[in-house]
Amino acid sequence: APRRASAKFATAAEALSTVFGYDSFRGEQAQIIDQVIGGGDAVVLMPTGGGKSLCYQIPSLVREGTGIVISPLIALMQDQVDALTAVGVRAAFLNSSQDSAARGQVERDYLAGDLDLLYVAPERLSSEATKRFLDRGTIALFAIDEAHCVSQWGHDFRPDYLALSELADRWPDVPRIALTATATDATHKELTTRLQLGQARHFVASFDRPNIQYRIVGKAEPRKQLLAFIRAEHQGDAGIVYALSRKTVEQTAEFLRQNGVNALPYHAGLDQGLRARTQARFLREDGVVIVATIAFGMGIDKPDVRFVAHIDLPKSVEGYYQETGRAGRDGLPSTGWLTYGLQDVVQQRRMIDTSTGSVQASALENLAHRRKLSAHLDAMLALCETVSCRRVNLLRYFGQPSEPCGNCDTCLEPPVGWDGTVAAQKLLSTVVRLLRERNQRFGAGQLIDILRGKVTPRTTQHSHDQLATWGIGADLSDQQWRGVVRQLLAQGFLATSGEYGTLVLTDAAAEVLAGRRTVELRTEPERAARPAAGAR
Ligand code: ADP
Ligand code: ZN
Repeated sequence: APRRASAKFATAAEALSTVFGYDSFRGEQAQIIDQVIGGGDAVVLMPTGGGKSLCYQIPSLVREGTGIVISPLIALMQDQVDALTAVGVRAAFLNSSQDSAARGQVERDYLAGDLDLLYVAPERLSSEATKRFLDRGTIALFAIDEAHCVSQWGHDFRPDYLALSELADRWPDVPRIALTATATDATHKELTTRLQLGQARHFVASFDRPNIQYRIVGKAEPRKQLLAFIRAEHQGDAGIVYALSRKTVEQTAEFLRQNGVNALPYHAGLDQGLRARTQARFLREDGVVIVATIAFGMGIDKPDVRFVAHIDLPKSVEGYYQETGRAGRDGLPSTGWLTYGLQDVVQQRRMIDTSTGSVQASALENLAHRRKLSAHLDAMLALCETVSCRRVNLLRYFGQPSEPCGNCDTCLEPPVGWDGTVAAQKLLSTVVRLLRERNQRFGAGQLIDILRGKVTPRTTQHSHDQLATWGIGADLSDQQWRGVVRQLLAQGFLATSGEYGTLVLTDAAAEVLAGRRTVELRTEPERAARPAAGAR
């Protein structure tokens, strides 16, 4: 029978066992829940799967009134409410997908005190009408989910979140709990300030996901490398493959299917019904591999995803961490596998350089926006190029120092570093000569052909064999040189310029050319380039 307004629980423990059927709290859940039940504010940083939802659901079941949950994921509200209703929680949502009859019912239930939880989209809270409506009922608490979205520095900024700063002014006596699974130190500070959570207690769980093995390999033939990885380690497992473009998503899904992997494409350009069916198959069937753009995965709670693969470079460490975090929620061994190459760096730098931002924004704001994207990319590249433990790097990014993990590629097979100063000088001086002697700029391909002394129609046409650096890099292979260029880009000795991604020097390059600075590079693992046996 549906519970009545007075049917609140006396204690958190009672709600935990009666409603959710669990016998103990996890991690800091009990302290967080106590803080909110006692009327205090809380900031909760906890990785995906850590159990954030209970931290506001249980206080909403104990405190008088309705817990208002602000969530950006409108598409998931229905699922969340259904799951809660199924266990007897009086939950509902208000969003733009509803007709007025449904909305009217929800509003009456709220005003009658018959709701424990009410999910609302952030944009609704900026309207005065919504606020007046909420005032007519009893608010148990505000839960701000995905709280990192308020940070303009973060990777997932949503302007609607800025209005949430008003909650503190308008309802000073209502406790607020902000939750997120991705917050760097900077984002943590920013969300605390913007949401006026200066008085809050902060609960920062470890972001380590020890059962996820992180691996990053050089990109040669990404689809074949991916297939080889799946065949060797995850045959028949459920997994998610992320790519940046819809076209890559479709081609990769098709390629995997042709090679016997039960793969399905998913991106925002596909029909909504099809997307829903794909998602349902992923959740219900065994061993489905979803090839998707980042549109897929938010809020999907599938415990036995055994691998998350990226065949394009993610745009930020936060995004990478969030996406790989969808693997292994059940705690069993899982893999976060990424392949990236020179082209990724060139392409993303170009996208940033040519991004004009929003038309309404000022030139200064757009510049700040580009700087932010560029800093995000730099951090991602540093993670890719590190010669030390991936996990140490990743956790340091989230402000958590740690020891080498023994469960990432750099720990398992320490990369061999080499002194790349001379190679760097050869390449950088070729760039200088082309510019000074010929007033020419080129991309990586032409520079490598010059260094290796490769006669091509293009080197002949420009008589590049007359350059002093012609053929001085024949000691390294094409693949090795691409690794050198990629690492010089990642380390900031080279930059790309303009629409064609031609290479230019940075100030740091002058130091290398003058012999005042050495360059440490990592050896490209050979296995990265080996295509899968038997791939069509
Ligand atoms: P998050 O929102 O942090 O990603 P969820 O709140 O979705 O995590 O919780 C992840 C899973 O863990 C859910 O299936 C949830 O039911 C389960 N869970 C959360 N807290 C507990 C607990 N105290 N005991 C057992 N299972 C729990
Ligand atoms: Zn490690």
